[in-house]
Amino acid sequence: MIPTEFDYKVPATIDEAVTLLASDLDGAKVLAGGHSLIPAMKLRLAQPQLLVDIARIKSLAYIREEGDQILIGATTTHYQLESSEMLKQICPLLPDCAHSIGDVQVRNKGTIGGSLAHSDPAGDWPAAVLALDAELVLVGTNGERTEKAEDFFVDLLTTSLLPGEILREIRIKKPSGRFGHAYQKVPHPASGFAVVGVAVNIVLNDDGSCKSAGIGVTGVGVKAYHANAVEAALAGTTLDDNAVAAAVEHICDGIDPNADLYASSDYRCHLAKVHTRRAIGSAKARVQ
Ligand SMILES: Cc1cc2nc3c(=O)[nH]c(=O)nc-3n(C[C@H](O)[C@H](O)[C@H](O)COP(=O)(O)OP(=O)(O)OC[C@H]3O[C@@H](n4cnc5c(N)ncnc54)[C@H](O)[C@@H]3O)c2cc1C
Repeated sequence: MIPTEFDYKVPATIDEAVTLLASDLDGAKVLAGGHSLIPAMKLRLAQPQLLVDIARIKSLAYIREEGDQILIGATTTHYQLESSEMLKQICPLLPDCAHSIGDVQVRNKGTIGGSLAHSDPAGDWPAAVLALDAELVLVGTNGERTEKAEDFFVDLLTTSLLPGEILREIRIKKPSGRFGHAYQKVPHPASGFAVVGVAVNIVLNDDGSCKSAGIGVTGVGVKAYHANAVEAALAGTTLDDNAVAAAVEHICDGIDPNADLYASSDYRCHLAKVHTRRAIGSAKARVQ
């Protein structure tokens, strides 16, 4: 189908973008990679009157270290994250997650900010930023505010972004100590979206026991979530087979698992248990 008619603006700065959005809070929408928004417009599920294209604001695409944090600009593409040598060294969960997204075309155009702001229940990035306890920097005409990833994903395709706000930056505390990461996913065979995706960020004590586990799950519920009960059950264990098997039983606690033509809710939950177990095993094997 053809989208409804819309206006299109290319701001040069983030301030200009925020002002443009504020000029039409109901009708304006941010355009980044367009890989979720344009299909929605073609189906007329989204009918914005004004598109504010932030993908051309050069200062919004970056990956850099600052103190004990990793800073990622919102329009950084999946490919830039996938291919970052720095991230492969200091936070391998991010390139691993990026590598699993769609195909080369999608990764070259789609952005991390667009994926998080879209909050697709099968999107990969939400699981990774939850596992890493990321903070998101949101900017609007009233200035900037910071939101924890945990509080950002509100519901199906719904985030805590207010009308006119732009997700500007993703902040992640640099993993330190004896940490191991893994992203494990069952991709939909056509699109590559996650039928189930599990991001794991474990940190071990010197004696090999689990100091902390960050586990983000996507594809299972209406929005990505922190598997709090699994994280709590793993802490203090040696991550042996019995401890992990018992912990992953809690992966769907408090969640009403999605059901569709591809996977029933029971099957989805089963996949989540199997792949959480595998991801924890891979993360443990990668601890240095
Ligand atoms: C064939 C295909 C396969 C795909 N496979 C996968 C996959 O396997 N895994 C996966 O996770 N995704 C997949 N995607 C989605 C892809 O990753 C998208 O790029 C992503 O979901 C949206 O990012 P975008 O930059 O394209 O955002 P856009 O489509 O431009 O925007 C999406 C939404 O977010 C809003 N938005 C964008 N950026 C911002 C911002 N900085 N601040 C505030 N709001 C913003 C827009 O207004 C819009 O509502 C696939 C897409 C396609 C077409």
